[in-house]
Amino acid sequence: MKVCSKEDGIESYLHVGSGLFTITLDKIKVKCDDLTKLISKISKEIARDASSFMRIKNLPTIPGSSVKGNIRSRIELSFIPKDGKIRCCFIRSSPPRREPKKGEHGWRHYRIWKESLQFDRKSCDYMREEKVCLVCNLFGTTGLQGLIFFDDFVGDFETKIIHLPHGEKIEVAPPGSRFIGEVTFANLKPEELGLLLFGMGLRNGRISKPVLFGKYKYRNDLPYNFGVVRYEIEKIELSKSLPELEGSTDEQVRRLVELALKSFDGELLDVDEVKILERL
Ligand SMILES: [Zn+2]
Repeated sequence: MKVCSKEDGIESYLHVGSGLFTITLDKIKVKCDDLTKLISKISKEIARDASSFMRIKNLPTIPGSSVKGNIRSRIELSFIPKDGKIRCCFIRSSPPRREPKKGEHGWRHYRIWKESLQFDRKSCDYMREEKVCLVCNLFGTTGLQGLIFFDDFVGDFETKIIHLPHGEKIEVAPPGSRFIGEVTFANLKPEELGLLLFGMGLRNGRISKPVLFGKYKYRNDLPYNFGVVRYEIEKIELSKSLPELEGSTDEQVRRLVELALKSFDGELLDVDEVKILERL
Protein backbone atom coordinates (compact mmCIF):
# COMPACT_ATOMS: atom_id res chain seq x y z
CA MET A 1 0.00 0.00 0.00
CA LYS A 2 1.29 3.43 -0.94
CA VAL A 3 0.32 6.77 0.56
CA CYS A 4 -0.45 8.96 -2.46
CA SER A 5 2.10 11.59 -3.46
CA LYS A 6 2.38 14.27 -6.15
CA GLU A 7 2.87 11.67 -8.89
CA ASP A 8 -0.58 10.27 -8.03
CA GLY A 9 -2.14 13.67 -8.53
CA ILE A 10 -2.94 14.09 -4.82
CA GLU A 11 -0.47 14.51 -2.00
CA SER A 12 -1.66 12.84 1.17
CA TYR A 13 -0.62 11.83 4.68
CA LEU A 14 -1.74 8.75 6.58
CA HIS A 15 -2.44 8.35 10.27
CA VAL A 16 -3.22 5.00 11.87
CA GLY A 17 -3.31 5.66 15.58
CA SER A 18 -1.79 3.44 18.23
CA GLY A 19 -4.02 5.01 20.87
CA LEU A 20 -0.81 6.18 22.56
CA PHE A 21 0.67 9.63 22.95
CA THR A 22 4.39 10.23 23.04
CA ILE A 23 5.32 12.46 25.93
CA THR A 24 8.74 13.84 26.55
CA LEU A 25 8.89 15.63 29.85
CA ASP A 26 11.87 17.57 31.05
CA LYS A 27 12.52 17.36 34.74
CA ILE A 28 9.72 19.31 36.33
CA LYS A 29 10.80 21.06 39.49
CA VAL A 30 7.70 21.60 41.53
CA LYS A 31 7.41 21.09 45.25
CA CYS A 32 5.17 18.31 46.48
CA ASP A 33 2.58 20.59 47.99
CA ASP A 34 2.08 22.20 44.57
CA LEU A 35 0.06 19.29 43.25
CA THR A 36 -2.38 21.49 41.29
CA LYS A 37 0.51 23.26 39.58
CA LEU A 38 2.16 19.96 38.82
CA ILE A 39 -0.97 18.53 37.22
CA SER A 40 -1.61 21.64 35.16
CA LYS A 41 2.01 21.68 33.96
CA ILE A 42 1.94 18.01 33.01
CA SER A 43 -1.40 18.27 31.23
CA LYS A 44 -0.12 21.18 29.15
CA GLU A 45 2.83 19.05 28.06
CA ILE A 46 0.51 16.16 27.22
CA ALA A 47 -1.74 18.41 25.14
CA ARG A 48 1.29 19.51 23.19
CA ASP A 49 2.49 16.01 22.39
CA ALA A 50 1.69 13.92 19.40
CA SER A 51 -0.71 11.06 18.85
CA SER A 52 1.58 8.20 17.79
CA PHE A 53 1.45 6.09 14.67
CA MET A 54 0.83 2.38 15.32
CA ARG A 55 4.14 0.55 15.63
CA ILE A 56 5.13 -3.11 15.83
CA LYS A 57 8.79 -3.94 16.48
CA ASN A 58 9.33 -0.21 16.28
CA LEU A 59 8.28 0.00 12.62
CA PRO A 60 5.22 1.98 11.54
CA THR A 61 2.55 -0.66 10.98
CA ILE A 62 -1.04 -0.91 9.81
CA PRO A 63 -2.66 -3.82 11.66
CA GLY A 64 -4.03 -6.53 9.36
CA SER A 65 -7.43 -6.06 11.01
CA SER A 66 -7.53 -2.43 9.79
CA VAL A 67 -6.66 -3.43 6.22
CA LYS A 68 -9.33 -6.10 6.36
CA GLY A 69 -11.91 -3.65 7.74
CA ASN A 70 -11.12 -1.14 5.00
CA ILE A 71 -11.51 -3.64 2.16
CA ARG A 72 -14.51 -5.37 3.66
CA SER A 73 -16.46 -2.19 4.21
CA ARG A 74 -15.70 -0.97 0.66
CA ILE A 75 -17.17 -4.24 -0.65
CA GLU A 76 -20.22 -4.03 1.65
CA LEU A 77 -20.86 -0.44 0.62
CA SER A 78 -20.45 -1.23 -3.08
CA PHE A 79 -23.23 -3.83 -3.14
CA ILE A 80 -26.75 -2.80 -4.11
CA PRO A 81 -29.80 -5.05 -4.43
CA LYS A 82 -30.76 -6.84 -7.62
CA ASP A 83 -34.28 -8.18 -8.11
CA GLY A 84 -35.11 -7.03 -4.60
CA LYS A 85 -32.30 -9.03 -2.98
CA ILE A 86 -28.97 -7.84 -1.62
CA ARG A 87 -26.09 -10.25 -1.52
CA CYS A 88 -24.33 -8.95 1.58
CA CYS A 89 -25.03 -7.55 5.03
CA PHE A 90 -23.39 -4.73 6.98
CA ILE A 91 -21.28 -6.34 9.69
CA ARG A 92 -21.01 -3.31 11.96
CA SER A 93 -24.04 -1.13 11.78
CA SER A 94 -27.27 -0.56 9.97
CA PRO A 95 -27.41 2.59 7.86
CA PRO A 96 -28.64 5.80 9.49
CA ARG A 97 -32.43 6.25 9.26
CA ARG A 98 -32.11 9.65 7.65
CA GLU A 99 -29.44 11.56 5.76
CA PRO A 100 -27.19 13.41 8.26
CA LYS A 101 -27.16 17.16 7.63
CA LYS A 102 -23.90 18.79 6.54
CA GLY A 103 -21.62 18.92 9.58
CA GLU A 104 -23.44 16.19 11.50
CA HIS A 105 -21.62 13.00 12.48
CA GLY A 106 -20.97 10.79 9.44
CA TRP A 107 -22.33 13.19 6.83
CA ARG A 108 -19.42 12.83 4.41
CA HIS A 109 -19.52 9.04 4.65
CA TYR A 110 -23.24 9.17 3.90
CA ARG A 111 -22.85 11.46 0.89
CA ILE A 112 -20.15 9.24 -0.61
CA TRP A 113 -22.04 5.97 -0.18
CA LYS A 114 -25.55 7.35 -0.41
CA GLU A 115 -26.74 4.97 -3.10
CA SER A 116 -26.02 1.76 -1.18
CA LEU A 117 -26.99 3.25 2.21
CA GLN A 118 -30.58 3.62 0.97
CA PHE A 119 -31.22 -0.03 1.69
CA ASP A 120 -31.65 -1.44 5.15
CA ARG A 121 -29.93 -4.74 5.76
CA LYS A 122 -29.54 -6.81 8.86
CA SER A 123 -26.23 -8.33 9.95
CA CYS A 124 -25.76 -12.07 9.56
CA ASP A 125 -26.03 -14.08 12.76
CA TYR A 126 -24.00 -17.25 12.18
CA MET A 127 -24.44 -18.49 15.76
CA ARG A 128 -28.19 -18.52 15.39
CA GLU A 129 -28.81 -19.18 11.72
CA GLU A 130 -25.64 -21.00 10.60
CA LYS A 131 -26.04 -19.27 7.25
CA VAL A 132 -24.20 -16.14 6.22
CA CYS A 133 -23.94 -13.78 3.27
CA LEU A 134 -21.16 -13.84 0.68
CA VAL A 135 -19.04 -11.21 2.43
CA CYS A 136 -19.31 -12.82 5.90
CA ASN A 137 -18.35 -16.13 4.30
CA LEU A 138 -15.22 -14.53 2.79
CA PHE A 139 -14.18 -12.26 5.66
CA GLY A 140 -15.68 -14.12 8.64
CA THR A 141 -18.07 -13.12 11.38
CA THR A 142 -18.65 -14.14 15.01
CA GLY A 143 -18.14 -17.92 15.14
CA LEU A 144 -16.94 -18.21 11.54
CA GLN A 145 -13.32 -17.78 10.49
CA GLY A 146 -13.68 -16.71 6.86
CA LEU A 147 -11.45 -17.53 3.89
CA ILE A 148 -9.22 -14.45 3.65
CA PHE A 149 -6.49 -13.53 6.14
CA PHE A 150 -4.58 -10.27 6.45
CA ASP A 151 -1.04 -9.84 7.76
CA ASP A 152 0.03 -6.59 9.32
CA PHE A 153 1.24 -4.10 6.70
CA VAL A 154 4.69 -2.88 7.74
CA GLY A 155 6.44 0.31 6.68
CA ASP A 156 10.13 1.16 6.71
CA PHE A 157 10.35 4.95 6.49
CA GLU A 158 10.69 7.99 8.72
CA THR A 159 7.39 9.21 10.09
CA LYS A 160 6.70 12.92 10.46
CA ILE A 161 4.93 14.97 13.08
CA ILE A 162 2.42 17.43 11.67
CA HIS A 163 0.39 20.13 13.36
CA LEU A 164 -3.35 20.40 12.99
CA PRO A 165 -5.55 23.31 14.01
CA HIS A 166 -6.36 23.62 17.75
CA GLY A 167 -2.87 22.53 18.81
CA GLU A 168 -3.36 18.89 17.84
CA LYS A 169 -0.20 17.05 16.77
CA ILE A 170 -0.10 13.70 15.02
CA GLU A 171 2.55 11.32 13.80
CA VAL A 172 1.96 10.47 10.15
CA ALA A 173 3.26 8.46 7.22
CA PRO A 174 4.31 11.14 4.68
CA PRO A 175 3.34 11.11 0.98
CA GLY A 176 4.96 8.25 -0.95
CA SER A 177 5.34 5.98 2.13
CA ARG A 178 4.82 2.29 1.45
CA PHE A 179 3.53 -0.51 3.68
CA ILE A 180 4.06 -4.15 2.73
CA GLY A 181 1.93 -7.08 3.82
CA GLU A 182 0.52 -10.41 2.69
CA VAL A 183 -3.08 -11.35 2.12
CA THR A 184 -3.68 -15.10 2.18
CA PHE A 185 -6.78 -16.88 0.93
CA ALA A 186 -8.12 -20.40 0.77
CA ASN A 187 -10.87 -21.99 -1.32
CA LEU A 188 -11.89 -18.81 -3.11
CA LYS A 189 -13.73 -19.00 -6.39
CA PRO A 190 -12.00 -16.88 -9.09
CA GLU A 191 -14.81 -14.28 -8.97
CA GLU A 192 -14.44 -14.08 -5.17
CA LEU A 193 -10.72 -13.37 -5.54
CA GLY A 194 -11.76 -10.75 -8.09
CA LEU A 195 -14.16 -9.26 -5.55
CA LEU A 196 -11.34 -9.01 -2.99
CA LEU A 197 -9.25 -7.09 -5.56
CA PHE A 198 -12.26 -4.92 -6.43
CA GLY A 199 -12.54 -4.08 -2.70
CA MET A 200 -8.97 -2.75 -2.83
CA GLY A 201 -10.01 -0.36 -5.58
CA LEU A 202 -8.26 -2.38 -8.29
CA ARG A 203 -9.79 -2.25 -11.76
CA ASN A 204 -7.50 -2.35 -14.79
CA GLY A 205 -4.16 -3.48 -13.42
CA ARG A 206 -2.06 -4.15 -10.36
CA ILE A 207 -2.19 -0.58 -9.04
CA SER A 208 -5.50 0.56 -7.58
CA LYS A 209 -7.25 3.85 -8.05
CA PRO A 210 -6.80 6.15 -5.02
CA VAL A 211 -9.01 5.03 -2.11
CA LEU A 212 -9.53 6.31 1.43
CA PHE A 213 -7.98 4.71 4.51
CA GLY A 214 -7.44 5.40 8.21
CA LYS A 215 -8.14 8.27 10.55
CA TYR A 216 -9.11 11.72 9.24
CA LYS A 217 -9.79 10.23 5.79
CA TYR A 218 -13.04 12.19 5.47
CA ARG A 219 -11.63 15.44 6.88
CA ASN A 220 -11.44 17.61 3.79
CA ASP A 221 -11.46 20.71 6.02
CA LEU A 222 -7.85 20.29 7.23
CA PRO A 223 -4.73 21.93 5.77
CA TYR A 224 -3.51 18.51 4.55
CA ASN A 225 -5.10 15.61 2.68
CA PHE A 226 -5.39 12.46 4.76
CA GLY A 227 -5.74 8.78 4.04
CA VAL A 228 -5.56 8.76 0.24
CA VAL A 229 -3.75 5.52 -0.62
CA ARG A 230 -3.32 3.07 -3.46
CA TYR A 231 -3.15 -0.71 -3.10
CA GLU A 232 -0.41 -2.23 -5.25
CA ILE A 233 -0.32 -5.95 -6.01
CA GLU A 234 3.22 -7.30 -6.08
CA LYS A 235 2.14 -10.77 -7.22
CA ILE A 236 -0.68 -13.29 -6.94
CA GLU A 237 0.41 -16.79 -6.03
CA LEU A 238 -1.82 -19.85 -6.06
CA SER A 239 -1.18 -23.17 -4.37
CA LYS A 240 1.22 -25.44 -6.31
CA SER A 241 -1.58 -27.96 -6.91
CA LEU A 242 -3.55 -25.41 -8.96
CA PRO A 243 -2.85 -24.32 -12.54
CA GLU A 244 -0.87 -21.07 -12.64
CA LEU A 245 -2.59 -17.81 -13.50
CA GLU A 246 -1.64 -16.69 -17.00
CA GLY A 247 -0.20 -13.35 -18.04
CA SER A 248 1.39 -10.45 -16.18
CA THR A 249 0.15 -9.37 -12.74
CA ASP A 250 -1.63 -6.45 -14.47
CA GLU A 251 -3.49 -8.88 -16.74
CA GLN A 252 -4.28 -11.27 -13.88
CA VAL A 253 -5.82 -8.49 -11.79
CA ARG A 254 -7.79 -7.12 -14.74
CA ARG A 255 -9.20 -10.58 -15.60
CA LEU A 256 -10.17 -11.44 -12.02
CA VAL A 257 -11.88 -8.07 -11.45
CA GLU A 258 -13.74 -8.44 -14.77
CA LEU A 259 -14.89 -11.87 -13.64
CA ALA A 260 -16.25 -10.40 -10.40
CA LEU A 261 -18.05 -7.61 -12.27
CA LYS A 262 -19.61 -10.20 -14.59
CA SER A 263 -20.62 -12.56 -11.77
CA PHE A 264 -22.12 -9.72 -9.72
CA ASP A 265 -23.46 -7.84 -12.72
CA GLY A 266 -25.75 -4.98 -11.73
CA GLU A 267 -24.93 -5.46 -8.04
CA LEU A 268 -21.66 -3.55 -7.63
CA LEU A 269 -21.33 0.23 -7.58
CA ASP A 270 -18.07 1.74 -8.77
CA VAL A 271 -17.79 4.67 -6.36
CA ASP A 272 -14.85 7.08 -6.60
CA GLU A 273 -14.59 8.06 -2.91
CA VAL A 274 -11.66 10.42 -3.40
CA LYS A 275 -13.32 12.39 -6.23
CA ILE A 276 -16.67 12.66 -4.43
CA LEU A 277 -14.95 13.82 -1.23
CA GLU A 278 -13.08 16.52 -3.17
CA ARG A 279 -16.40 17.95 -4.31
CA LEU A 280 -18.07 17.97 -0.86
ZN1 LIG B 1 -23.17 -11.07 6.34
